Amino acid sequence: MAFGNPDFDLFQLPEEHEALREAIRDLSEKAIAPYAKEVDEKARFPEEAREALVASGFNAIHVPEQFDGQGADSVAACIVIEEVARVDVSASLIPAVNKLGTMGLILAGSDELKAQVLPSIASGEAMASYALSEREAGSDAAAMKTRARKEGDSWVLNGSKCWITNGGQSTWYTVMAVTDPDKGANGISAFMVHKDDEGFVVGPLEHKLGIKGSPTAELYFENCTIPADRIIGEEGTGFKTALATLDHTRPTIGAQAVGVAQGALDQAIAYVKDRKQFGKTISQFQGVEFMIADMAMKVEAARLMVYTAAARAERGEKNLGFISSASKCLASDVAMEVTTDAVQLFGGAGYTTDFPVERMMRDAKITQIYEGTNQIQRMVMARALLR
Ligand SMILES: Cc1cc2nc3c(=O)[nH]c(=O)nc-3n(C[C@H](O)[C@H](O)[C@H](O)COP(=O)(O)OP(=O)(O)OC[C@H]3O[C@@H](n4cnc5c(N)ncnc54)[C@H](O)[C@@H]3O)c2cc1C
Repeated sequence: MAFGNPDFDLFQLPEEHEALREAIRDLSEKAIAPYAKEVDEKARFPEEAREALVASGFNAIHVPEQFDGQGADSVAACIVIEEVARVDVSASLIPAVNKLGTMGLILAGSDELKAQVLPSIASGEAMASYALSEREAGSDAAAMKTRARKEGDSWVLNGSKCWITNGGQSTWYTVMAVTDPDKGANGISAFMVHKDDEGFVVGPLEHKLGIKGSPTAELYFENCTIPADRIIGEEGTGFKTALATLDHTRPTIGAQAVGVAQGALDQAIAYVKDRKQFGKTISQFQGVEFMIADMAMKVEAARLMVYTAAARAERGEKNLGFISSASKCLASDVAMEVTTDAVQLFGGAGYTTDFPVERMMRDAKITQIYEGTNQIQRMVMARALLR
């Protein structure tokens, strides 16, 4: 065994990833950050962010080259989401949910269906969403009630989905529905539904604690009729596809969490170096120094785990359950801790909307809840360990 490689590059991102970070950070600071406060206050879609991301090709960099995309690897997708989330978590849901809404198709769909959907996502003409959750089937998603029945050359969907990110903004929806109620999770299939399909209705939006710029909608399927070839993969494989999707996208939620934590840390560092009490900057008090050190230490650890999870998904490793759940769970817990500490370090100012840290703290909370709550992530991890 030979060690001592002079070009030692373990644990170092390749140059192109660093260049990508520089480009997306620059874009985020110039074209996304200036609107983040208003987007949150008005709970409006971050249209400026969408336009800027599309204009620079960062809206869906994961789409394979074969389907007119950039074919970027999973770590690159995480870097884009992380850097956008550093300034505005709502806007980071544009690239994140474009990936979530198309990953099932990429993993299990036919080439014809991919060709129908993916080029429009890559170009930014369309966005995609992922519709698994229902009002009575959240953590227990396999208990879903939405039905799909084959009728001639069509599938007919009936039921409703809730909490669907970018509902109403997206053109394409990956929808999981029961095709055989006697088979439990093996009786669920996945479909691509288009916003103009007959019987597809977008319901009202939720009023939320954070990510107020990201619309969260109910979807209704009222004899929604779609062509038979819009099924993703074989009948009965939809739940497996939905879970395999999450193996690939939970690290992107981790990236979002790392991004908002880094954003809050950067804000806190600038503030404590400026704010004076007792005749000196508060950065000179050891109680503050230790908080900053702990915050940065946690962000660094979370980032490494997120990139590891993304790289393992990219390499096509099997059994991603533990690492993808661990990366999302650790990073989102870190995001909640770090953003809360950032508010603390701003004192009273941190509790006002004059500074972005209160928004970041509200936005961070969702990363512990969606794509499976952190209790569910711990369940997935434990099952993988104890199997
Ligand atoms: C803003 C937002 C955006 C979302 N976007 C999407 C989307 O785009 N697509 C989509 O399909 N879904 C989406 N979701 C849904 C999200 O994934 C679910 O809310 C989440 O999985 C939890 O389901 P639930 O809300 O029904 O909570 P419940 O399942 O009712 O859970 C309530 C509490 O019980 C705990 N719990 C449940 N079961 C267990 C258990 N076995 N052991 C221990 N604790 C348990 C949970 O951890 C939680 O603390 C979104 C949700 C929100 C709030």
